[in-house]
Amino acid sequence: MPEPPTPVEIQRLKKQLLKKGAEINSKLTALLNGQQVNVEGLLGGGKPGQTPIERLRRFMAIVDASLRAIRAGTYGRCVGCGAGLPYVELEQVPWIDTCPTCAAAATTTT
Ligand SMILES: [Zn+2]
Repeated sequence: MPEPPTPVEIQRLKKQLLKKGAEINSKLTALLNGQQVNVEGLLGGGKPGQTPIERLRRFMAIVDASLRAIRAGTYGRCVGCGAGLPYVELEQVPWIDTCPTCAAAATTTT
């Protein structure tokens, strides 16, 4: 079972999450003010038919959940099976909360 990230790594990931949260917030504010904002590339996999505002809000909720998990001390572990999430993957996508196995299982059931 892979080890979850170390406290030092988590601090690094937290900075990334806060930065991403600020980025989402500013785009959301701009959109709510009627400005054109390109959200492609900020979000992988938005659902078809979702407005950019919905996508940003959903993404914000995911980033927020990760920050809450850091405070709660549960960050870096799969919410499905409790396996440690590898730092190399968290570094790419710091808001993941499931291991590849559980993520694959979730996609096939929905
Ligand atoms: Zn898992």
